[in-house]
Amino acid sequence: MLTDIEIAQATEPKPIGEIARIAGVDEKYLELYGNYKAKVDYNLLREEEHAPGKLILVTAINPTPAGEGKTTTTVGLADALAQRGKNVVVALREPSLGPVFGIKGGAAGGGYAQVVPMEDINLHFTGDFHAIGAANNLLAALLDAHIQNGNELNIDVRKITWKRVVDMNDRQLRHIVDGLGGKAHGVPREDGFDITVASEVMAIFCLATSITDLKERLGRIVVGYTYDDKPVTAHDLKAEGAMAALLKDALKPNLVQTLEGTPAFVHGGPFANIAHGCNSIMATRMAMALGDYCVTEAGFGADLGAEKFLDIKCRLAGLAPDAVVVVATVRALKNHGGVAKADLNEENLEALEAGLPNLLQHVENITNVYNLPCVVAINAFPTDTKAELDLVEAKCRELGVNVALSEVWAKGGEGGLALADEVVALCESGDAAGRSAETFSFSYESDLSIAEKIEAIARRVYRADGVVFEPAAQKEIAQLEALGFGDMPVCMAKTQYSFSDDATKLGAPRDFTVTVRQVKVSAGAGFIVALTGSIMTMPGLGKAPAAHKIDVLEDGTIVGLF
Ligand code: ADP
Ligand code: MG
Repeated sequence: MLTDIEIAQATEPKPIGEIARIAGVDEKYLELYGNYKAKVDYNLLREEEHAPGKLILVTAINPTPAGEGKTTTTVGLADALAQRGKNVVVALREPSLGPVFGIKGGAAGGGYAQVVPMEDINLHFTGDFHAIGAANNLLAALLDAHIQNGNELNIDVRKITWKRVVDMNDRQLRHIVDGLGGKAHGVPREDGFDITVASEVMAIFCLATSITDLKERLGRIVVGYTYDDKPVTAHDLKAEGAMAALLKDALKPNLVQTLEGTPAFVHGGPFANIAHGCNSIMATRMAMALGDYCVTEAGFGADLGAEKFLDIKCRLAGLAPDAVVVVATVRALKNHGGVAKADLNEENLEALEAGLPNLLQHVENITNVYNLPCVVAINAFPTDTKAELDLVEAKCRELGVNVALSEVWAKGGEGGLALADEVVALCESGDAAGRSAETFSFSYESDLSIAEKIEAIARRVYRADGVVFEPAAQKEIAQLEALGFGDMPVCMAKTQYSFSDDATKLGAPRDFTVTVRQVKVSAGAGFIVALTGSIMTMPGLGKAPAAHKIDVLEDGTIVGLF
């Protein structure tokens, strides 16, 4: 069997100018990065009138460590829609080097449903993450220089919340002491790095709707507090202009193509467990402007990715999806039903059935909490048996859940035609119960108190009995509400493996509470971040990271990248 990279390298991509023509991008908006990548100027959105196309969100059940095929399904569904003659554009996140060199692997899809050039997309791409890291670190440098040069703003170095970032899984940098070396070398303080994809600049980048909006959001970033507990912002440090200058090209969506030549934007990449987990609003808007259908992905399971896509991104951008695809695999459902990772290749119908409640709870959330039409895509793996695939399909039908088998990994767009037909039907006429983009509702209203919003997500989406706020979190909530940040939506930082904040509780757990240990504001992004469990904003590498297998040949060909 060919690996993802072998399949990708065996296909001849079209020149990117041709893809731009298919997408309807006028040449004057196209900025070429080599032959197969281009940025598309955001002025297209300002200067051209386009009726927005249908928006299709692809999300999934709670993942196993390998990922469940959301990107693969997103790409394959788009290719299937294209095969049905639809004008479709994909919108995906850019991969972070952390997971690429860690265990998860790339984020360009798999099998015959990939975006290319996958090596470039997975390694540096057009440099957007470097720009985001540089903007983030410029703010950190300005902050520490301000303190060194007299600290006119009266910043309490013990209350600095802004961290430097690097796009790497590097646990060594999680907790550090810096500013050492004496009076000329800075003010010593406890500090730490986050991974770039967890930074507020990444979130702002993905939520910004224009350069002006970007600058205003950057200016609102809270970097820490004064000795009398007043927030200090990036604007106070005169940082937002230079930060935005570093980001002005990065903010232009990157255009690439699927293996079947469907236009795809790959832009922005916040993690879904510690950040809001979807590609930039710029890219989504552009895909919707250019396509009659935009297929997009939200990270991890629907409890994190879809929740934040719907409650944060759609709220802030004024979007409503026309259909939601929930990706499930037989392997992951067996895992939720109690089968160990090593035994997932064996047929096990009982475990499969025992794992189904995980899928059904995600479906119920989409239909009954968010009031949106939903279809389950069963992402078929070579190890699945017919009896297993039939069982999932039969159980869904029994409960009135729309379902389609997806074989896009093995067959490309042709393997997704049944799914595409379901999706088109939902987009055109809603589901049997009358749900459509028109009936969309959030899981909470943003004018509730911070605690009430967190409780609404925990009870309605996770099915927790309630939320325990640790004393530090209670204090932070009171402070943030007193400062006027109380009416923002909430970005939950939670493990992706479980509906709960305990990674070991698989399936559809009940009788649990969620513990919130820290609450902070991302004032520029426009949300409150609630950290649960032991979730970390800087991952580390394991004993056998993917980096060990990646190499480059004398002629420049990348090998070993999945
Ligand atoms: P996600 O977006 O949910 O993280 P991806 O689409 O990136 O998942 O897929 C993760 C990995 O699983 C990729 O390496 C991909 O090739 C592989 N994969 C996805 N679907 C299948 C499938 N149906 N059969 C075999 N491997 C698959
Ligand atoms: Mg993905």
